[in-house]
Amino acid sequence: MFAKVKTTLMAGAAVLAAAPALAEEVNVYSYRQPELLQPLLDAFTKETGIEVNMAYLAKGMVERLQAEGDRTPADLVFTVDISRLAAVVNAGVTQPIITDYLQEHVPAQYHDPEGHWWGLTTRARVVYASKDRVADDEVTTYEDLADPKWKDRICTRSGTHTYMLALTAAMISHHGEEYTKEWLEGLKANLARKPEGNDRAQVKAIWAGQCDISLGNTYYMGQMLEDAEQTEWAISVRLLFPEFENGGTHVNISGVAMTKAAPNKENAIKLMEFLTSPAAQELYAEANHEYPVAPGSTPTELVNSWGTFTADDVNLMDLADLRDDALRITQEVDFDG
Ligand code: FE
Repeated sequence: MFAKVKTTLMAGAAVLAAAPALAEEVNVYSYRQPELLQPLLDAFTKETGIEVNMAYLAKGMVERLQAEGDRTPADLVFTVDISRLAAVVNAGVTQPIITDYLQEHVPAQYHDPEGHWWGLTTRARVVYASKDRVADDEVTTYEDLADPKWKDRICTRSGTHTYMLALTAAMISHHGEEYTKEWLEGLKANLARKPEGNDRAQVKAIWAGQCDISLGNTYYMGQMLEDAEQTEWAISVRLLFPEFENGGTHVNISGVAMTKAAPNKENAIKLMEFLTSPAAQELYAEANHEYPVAPGSTPTELVNSWGTFTADDVNLMDLADLRDDALRITQEVDFDG
């Protein structure tokens, strides 16, 4: 699948170089699964007549864009996680894009002030809690997860995973590094088992009685409900939305950036604006049970049923900047050991 899509795109690029502006198109590199984007891209093509060529990349987007330089066929890159967006921007392979439409549809906290990246959806990192063993008001703050009352009751994935590093970076942003290191030590001391598996594996462990709460991204609740084997894991838990003591619930984004050498810049802007339009926003968010960013667009009924929260107001770029510090102290406390 990957190779086929990639080949198509590269072949298309060769044709482009030989006969520029032959076709109305826009080329996309995506870390996001193609099936999340495809329905939207099809809708865009139907509305505008602009073809979208997508190459799904499992990794190495920055290296590839750097190697291709001015000859890259890619106009836009799609990824989840602010640290991955920041990595592309910091590598110097993006260009700033600001339009009135984008600014009206993407709240200020979800885009780069200079326009190098734009958030398209958000997801919160919250607590999955056993319906049987955890009371609604038992989970309060992220800080509280280090309290000994949770001893042997918490499961998480590896502390070095991107999702965990963003949360730890947010803790540093709120409380500084020294506090956060103690928090990580406390959290580690409360783990029912060494970190292993993905976010859903922790919910399975709750279902199996190994722990009472876990940390996970909101959309995995929707994904588990869609999977016959995982449905019973999902219905054994409810989502609880912790906050930082001096902030809100931790969120991250999926987003888009334009490459510096984008050969189809005007078309790419049209696609960016299309994706921030309220109708497309709701479809995109629905595809992975996320939250749309555009004012006036709402998550699905299912996503709304999980509860409401106030997003933490930490600057997303701070999360990216603090990622290395978060990784270092995670390793210092041997979180996974
Ligand atoms: Fe995920």
